[in-house]
Amino acid sequence: MEEFEYRKLKDLSQEEFDKLEHDKQLGNLIKSKLNEVCSFLHNDVSVIKEYQLKQIQKLVDYAYTNIPLYKKKYDKVGYKVGSIKTFDDFYKLPILYKDELISGFPDEIVKNVNDFKFSTRSSGSSGKFLTLAVSVEAIYKDTLQGIRQFITQSNNEYKKEDVVLFIYTCPWWVDSINGEYKMDYLPTTMPPNEALEYIMKTKPFMISTYPTYLQRLCEFNVKLSDYGVKYVIVHSEQSNRQLRFDMAQKLGVEVLDEYSSEELTRIALECPNHNYHIEEDASFIEIIDEKTHQHIEDGEGVVVGTNLLNYATPIIRYYQGDIATIDTKKKCSCGNNGRIVTSIEGREMDCINSNNRIVPASSLMDLAYNWFLTYKIPVQGIKYQIIQTHKDKILVYLSKGLYNLSNKDMENIKESLYSVIDRNLSIEIKFTEEFYYKSNKFKPVVNLIGENYEQK
Ligand SMILES: [Zn+2]
Repeated sequence: MEEFEYRKLKDLSQEEFDKLEHDKQLGNLIKSKLNEVCSFLHNDVSVIKEYQLKQIQKLVDYAYTNIPLYKKKYDKVGYKVGSIKTFDDFYKLPILYKDELISGFPDEIVKNVNDFKFSTRSSGSSGKFLTLAVSVEAIYKDTLQGIRQFITQSNNEYKKEDVVLFIYTCPWWVDSINGEYKMDYLPTTMPPNEALEYIMKTKPFMISTYPTYLQRLCEFNVKLSDYGVKYVIVHSEQSNRQLRFDMAQKLGVEVLDEYSSEELTRIALECPNHNYHIEEDASFIEIIDEKTHQHIEDGEGVVVGTNLLNYATPIIRYYQGDIATIDTKKKCSCGNNGRIVTSIEGREMDCINSNNRIVPASSLMDLAYNWFLTYKIPVQGIKYQIIQTHKDKILVYLSKGLYNLSNKDMENIKESLYSVIDRNLSIEIKFTEEFYYKSNKFKPVVNLIGENYEQK
């Protein structure tokens, strides 16, 4: 893909996407499938497993037959179409890493480069940009599972007339379905006082945002419940039960967690009983041993997932990298038979201090995400790290990506950061392949104030 095509990708996506008749398609899907989707996780575990195995068989054969990356990868282990008969057969397939998807872009990770007409980007906690093709069917299924999320996390209170406000990176593909199921959007770069005014005016039923953004909303001592808000879903960053409980008390709402990623969509959701249930029909989630990579049925290990929705760029046995514990013996009275995750680690983030004002990692990660969307910076394959070395100094590390960045791109990166960081902090951008690791762990945003960090 040429650089100018890459720079135009998002515009094309949206243009093409808007041409489709979403209201009609999604309206029909809601009529014919929403009940089934909503009750899926109430099925017996054996029914859920049977469904998953079928989906996996179909997906793996499709990927092997159509996607060059998988053809090469699975040929090496002697894969043949139809050879997955059991989960154990599936567990023998090699793990997929983000770097493989990045180096396979664009031709190797899709059947046809035209599939990139709808795409999604990920950088997440690895700080490395990746573009994936996504099919319109996957977007629709994801939308239906989103509606299920509103229903289940609100304990069945959510109705199609309600508005859900996303304070997030970028808006969802559709903002409503035939005027119902409205999904409103504000960017996380919006100052919290303005977001609060907007909430007071528009009275959403539910808000979905980062826990650190919600913490800033708590500072105003306003009960969101006075403005119609009943539920807040937090995601993308670590937040413990106590913190969510405290915020819930302050705001007069219920605060529940969502564990998700761009590649795997919804991984697990906190139910009204405060158990995390795996979204078994969104992604097939596994835990593997960190060293041996052996499958672990019950216990602690690294999260690996297979996206069951998207065929455009299949994601199969993908190394998500977080550490989680699955307890298959644990049951929950909420009626959801999705496996229960008892701990998730790996979403801890640092903040940047801008004149004693906290700028959460996720706001900065959102900015980075928008380097492509807003400024058309060709980020594919670039890895970034934003490091605060001193109270008044920010260092941005970038690795070289697929395309060269112009001076204008660099200027845009700086300007984007100054939209949330005060201008009296200096920002320096450096190209490097040596990033900062704290206890062997990479974080996209690092605060090293007082640690005498020697710049490389
Ligand atoms: Zn439950």
